[in-house]
Amino acid sequence: MSDKALVLIVDDSATNLQVLAACVKGYHQLKVATDGEKCLQIARQTPQPDLILLDVEMPGMNGYEVCKRLKADPETEAIPVIFITGLQGDKDEELGLKLGAVDYITKPIRPAIVIARVNTHITLKLQRDKLNQIAFNDQLTGLYNRHFLFEAAARKVSRALRHSYELWLLMIDIDHFKMINDTYGHPMGDQILKQVADVLAVDNRAEDLAARFGGEEFVVIFDPCEDQDALNKAQRILRKIEQLKPQGIKVTVSIGMAKLKAEDVDFERLLKRADDALYKAKQGGRNRIELASFP
Ligand code: GH3
Ligand code: MG
Ligand code: MG
Ligand code: MG
Repeated sequence: MSDKALVLIVDDSATNLQVLAACVKGYHQLKVATDGEKCLQIARQTPQPDLILLDVEMPGMNGYEVCKRLKADPETEAIPVIFITGLQGDKDEELGLKLGAVDYITKPIRPAIVIARVNTHITLKLQRDKLNQIAFNDQLTGLYNRHFLFEAAARKVSRALRHSYELWLLMIDIDHFKMINDTYGHPMGDQILKQVADVLAVDNRAEDLAARFGGEEFVVIFDPCEDQDALNKAQRILRKIEQLKPQGIKVTVSIGMAKLKAEDVDFERLLKRADDALYKAKQGGRNRIELASFP
């Protein structure tokens, strides 16, 4: 069991909070909330809770409503919820589970039962996180992988088109990387890939997305972003990578940049325009940025 699991306990009664906290304390880290609004707020903070123990009967927003909102928000929907409640009817339990809770514990609280169930669901949650990490991230660089990029970018692009948001895509390719491999060896090439990826990861705000597209190619998406900000950010990436000079080796990238247009229709079209711009940047002498022409 990882010691990093964080459990959020939500109950309007101080006594119940104490009893539940005593069950969980010693096994996991704890946060508490005394109403639904605070629960929703804490659930969105980083680090996110790995599990929420949620009272049903609370003044203001009740637990069912809290659960409904957690499950409706893509940012919080994956957090498992266990209802802890004095309501004992089958209908109540059915409703709780239908709302997406993973379990339902009735009061009076039996500590051994609570901690056993909490531990089971924490184990499942951490296993799921691990599988997601493997499925969606590139093993070498830790950036998102191509599979995740295509899923997330398709969502971003359709949302941006629907709401006329600004959205910029950067296609970034390391210059003469084959020669770097040939000259300094493949393991050194791997080190360079990691360092370039670190620049892309650090320079990103939470809403932005950086992914390893393939071999020595990366895609970064800025959204929503003013044109000048996007250009500045791309230039900063170019400069930072040029300044890396790992073990004195000259490493540069070429960048093709495209801004989403209504005519793009989908992510593939946008990608294609960025890729064409990248080709121009390579033709134009490398270590430079080229803007995509409009469709
Ligand atoms: P250009 O400036 O035109 O982009 O030239 P380039 O040499 O970078 O492009 P090319 O496509 O010819 O070569 C890409 C090289 O990247 C070839 C491949 O062996 C190397 N590569 C791809 N994936 C990895 C990896 O995971 N590790 C290492 N070390 N090298 C990789
Ligand atoms: Mg209550
Ligand atoms: Mg390439
Ligand atoms: Mg290359």
